[in-house]
Amino acid sequence: MSSQVEKAVKNEITEEIRQVADDEALPVESVLRRVAEGHIVIPNNKNRKTNVVGIGKGLKTKINASIGTSTSIADVEMEIKKAQIAEEAGADTLMDLSVGGDIADIRRRVMDSISLPVGTVPLYEAFALAIDKYGAAIDMPEEFLFDIIEQQCEEGVSFMAIHCGINRMTIERLRNQNYRFGGLVSKGGSYLTAWMLHNNKENPLYEHFDRVAAILKKHDVVLSLGNGFRAGAIGDSTDRVQIQELIINCELADTGRKMGCQMMVEGPGHIPIDEIEANIIVQKRMSNEAPFYMLGPITTDIAPGYDHVTAAIGQAISSSFGADFLCYVTPAEHVGLPYPEDVREGVITARIAAHVGDMVKFKDKSRDLAMSKARRDLKWKEQFELAITPDQARDVRSKRGGADEEHCTMCGEFCASKILKGMFDAELTEGCKA
Ligand code: SF4
Repeated sequence: MSSQVEKAVKNEITEEIRQVADDEALPVESVLRRVAEGHIVIPNNKNRKTNVVGIGKGLKTKINASIGTSTSIADVEMEIKKAQIAEEAGADTLMDLSVGGDIADIRRRVMDSISLPVGTVPLYEAFALAIDKYGAAIDMPEEFLFDIIEQQCEEGVSFMAIHCGINRMTIERLRNQNYRFGGLVSKGGSYLTAWMLHNNKENPLYEHFDRVAAILKKHDVVLSLGNGFRAGAIGDSTDRVQIQELIINCELADTGRKMGCQMMVEGPGHIPIDEIEANIIVQKRMSNEAPFYMLGPITTDIAPGYDHVTAAIGQAISSSFGADFLCYVTPAEHVGLPYPEDVREGVITARIAAHVGDMVKFKDKSRDLAMSKARRDLKWKEQFELAITPDQARDVRSKRGGADEEHCTMCGEFCASKILKGMFDAELTEGCKA
């Protein structure tokens, strides 16, 4: 089967391309061209029917919600609930990052419970199974990695984060650099590095990248080049190690695309806000504009419990500078496994951040302007209809009392909008009719 990118190169307008164009109100030819150039990806594993989601240049910023068990808490029913809540709250995709319990069974049940494209990090399952099967992750035969990737593709996984960009040179950079405040924070990256060092071998996913890309292409699974040496601390952002891996990932994005595989590149991690723009420019320039999947990014290290907020700040800035896909962060980040309510909070917060960024990316403030006017005119029904979270807004208004009043309980009779109502109608409304 040809992939979306191969079909687009042959000028074939697929159903998926047509749907992305419809959803985003874009000319179908422009989506076709961008898919052919690798600037847009559309996860489309033929083995599982999912929502059609376009990610990339000229499209609205998309949100991923990650769920998954740990070895401490492996409750499959809770993971299914988290997946369903993520879908309800408006996530565009879901990653199942389970490392505890029966990983394959959890993944299948999660996929059966939602319509979102589901992504994975296949290294997690490979290393977890290797511990049982071979006694230690470092004793895993490399062929096993390819088997797990193939098996997950056959099951219908839509996109995979795979750490192909870690190689001997990346590890050398880490040794030479002599510092890392946060060490290595990627589970897949850490296991892979340990495997390479123990076996004194090159990363098989780098050495045999053509094999990885060929497997994913066969099923039209998007290959998301993993950020295994991402900064896990503000002090490590944009360091040589991260940039070394990014350079390799950008090269591989080009190689994979030429092979007909749909490609994305992953980015920070933890990063101060003044480095976000540079990271996006460098990634876009070096990868020939492959879609950029931003993990977080978390913009300060000192707010555990509120990392959905520290990430939202980074997500809004990232989206405004051209990041295409944002991985949400929940309030539980750094302190525990997220519960279902954390997932809802994380998705909604990331959606708000993406909207803030998209207002700048697309120079379109129309929804905000409509909300401003509805507020000025005390039109509550309209305000709720325009809100990202109408139920939440309605709920707060009704629970604070005075829901039948024209004003709300914030200012009561001192409601500024009410005091001047009717006195400046022409002056306040003439210029904002559009
Ligand atoms: S009472 Fe205050 S906060 Fe509420 S609508 Fe009027 S001006 Fe706005």
